[in-house]
Amino acid sequence: MFIVGLTGGIGSGKSTVAAEFQRQGIDVVDADLVARDVVAPNSQALQQIQYYFGDSVILTDGSLDRAALRAAVFNNEQQRRWLNQLLHPLISQEMQVQLKAASSPYVLWVVPLLVENKLYQQADRVLVIDLPVEQQKLRAASRDRQSIAQIEQVLASQASRQQRLAVADDVIDNSRPLSEVKRDVSTLHQHYLQLSQH
Ligand code: ATP
Repeated sequence: MFIVGLTGGIGSGKSTVAAEFQRQGIDVVDADLVARDVVAPNSQALQQIQYYFGDSVILTDGSLDRAALRAAVFNNEQQRRWLNQLLHPLISQEMQVQLKAASSPYVLWVVPLLVENKLYQQADRVLVIDLPVEQQKLRAASRDRQSIAQIEQVLASQASRQQRLAVADDVIDNSRPLSEVKRDVSTLHQHYLQLSQH
């Protein structure tokens, strides 16, 4: 399976661009969705998390209280390590299953932390969604109810624009109007169709 890894910083436009590829009939495997699925209500992983952290990380509807879990591991390296050791193999296994199950000519693998976790080696091609940091902040802030300070914290924990661009095979400049970005997607789609045939 020919894998196109798509990445970009917070608010850069990954979901927007991925939806365009999907409209072209391309299967999308989204690391964030997989990460959510593995801790779905009644999953084994969620039961283990509840056992380890206690009921305070579970919401009344039985789903994971992400904010509570984030707060619990924030200043506790040992607990953070325990959580990562539980979730990373599960997420990576499930992503492999979904990538293998894809039936389109190539598959788009959306991974926000592709560079940070050095996963770009597992992609045949890396597509970076690029946006100046100031615009990232404005778009992320207008979409979520996160404060600029919270967004800046996320930005500081992510790879820099330069680090991302250094591993890019292709780049979409998402500071332009969506109509132009959609044209880029069509062009890249044709290119990836060709590449995936060899
Ligand atoms: P995150 O990593 O934070 O989940 P993301 O990279 O998936 O974000 P999107 O949710 O696709 O980013 O886009 C962030 C915001 O910017 C959304 O509100 C989206 O509608 C808007 N947006 C995306 N592309 C453009 C564009 N070319 N012009 C204007 N607004 C855009």
